[in-house]
Amino acid sequence: MAEFQLIERYFSGLSGARQDVALGVGDDCALLQPPSGMQLAMTMDTLIAGRHFLPDTNPRRLGHKVLAVNLSDLAAMGARPAWALLSISLPEIDHAWLAEFSAGFAALAARHDLALVGGDTCQGEMSFSLQLTGFVEAGKELRRDGARPGDRIWVTGFLGDAALALKRLQAAEEPGALSGRLEQPRPRIAEGLALSGAGATSCIDISDGLASDLGHVCRQSGCAARVHLDRLPLSPAMARHVAKTGDYSLALAGGDDYELCFTLPADSTPPAGVDATCIGEMFPGEGVKLVDAGGREVPPPRGWEHFA
Ligand code: ADP
Ligand code: MG
Repeated sequence: MAEFQLIERYFSGLSGARQDVALGVGDDCALLQPPSGMQLAMTMDTLIAGRHFLPDTNPRRLGHKVLAVNLSDLAAMGARPAWALLSISLPEIDHAWLAEFSAGFAALAARHDLALVGGDTCQGEMSFSLQLTGFVEAGKELRRDGARPGDRIWVTGFLGDAALALKRLQAAEEPGALSGRLEQPRPRIAEGLALSGAGATSCIDISDGLASDLGHVCRQSGCAARVHLDRLPLSPAMARHVAKTGDYSLALAGGDDYELCFTLPADSTPPAGVDATCIGEMFPGEGVKLVDAGGREVPPPRGWEHFA
């Protein structure tokens, strides 16, 4: 099958019904009409088989995940998704596999009114590069450099479930309900949009683990973070893991959660629709410090240095 037939079959039907797509897949370029007065938020990520996902990952889940990790970056910026460019490299043409992959991608794209407007297809090791463009009003974007001493630190959802699922898969154990947290992360688009209108002072999505990602906020904002271990939001499975092992390192340093970590002034609470937990506060200084329930600083867990 020629490349153009493959593109036509699996990727040309994903441009949705957006009015701002003058020309989608099929020509040399897509033609897009940006809304006046909005900034374009652009992001790109590459996922490589064996490095960013297990090569035998279910293709429908993989199509979802490739898109979800990129949508998460738009969410963290407070941007509304609009357009995607997808570059695919595959060792061979497997129709059943491609149909599933594009279905997983399409379902999540439709949920966020995202149009796939172009891309590239080639033969090689399995990998995916996705470029997304979204819109955010000037001044409403959620940046990493706006946190100030006194701000409270919040996170959405639970921490470390994706890392716990991966650990179980690698040990050939059944990850159960946790596998969805690894393979089908839900990008926090609605939360990002709500936060951008609600005066969040900074925001980042947790892709590399709380320690590392909150560390970026500290560095770029020029202040320090204090995280209270007893306040970390843990799923029942993670709470059992911590109770059994006494080890918080997956919740602190495990990647692939795609929750949002954001800061709000001390007198604010998250807006309606943002289900989040306050885990600490910013203060003058640098780096991420951990404290126990009594407020005493505790040494970083195993693996912290590696991640942070
Ligand atoms: P060119 O050789 O001019 O770059 P291509 O044959 O690579 O064109 O692509 C033809 C059309 O298909 C273009 O509109 C391109 O954006 C689109 N396209 C190619 N691969 C993909 C893909 N994986 N997903 C979506 N669109 C794609
Ligand atoms: Mg061309």
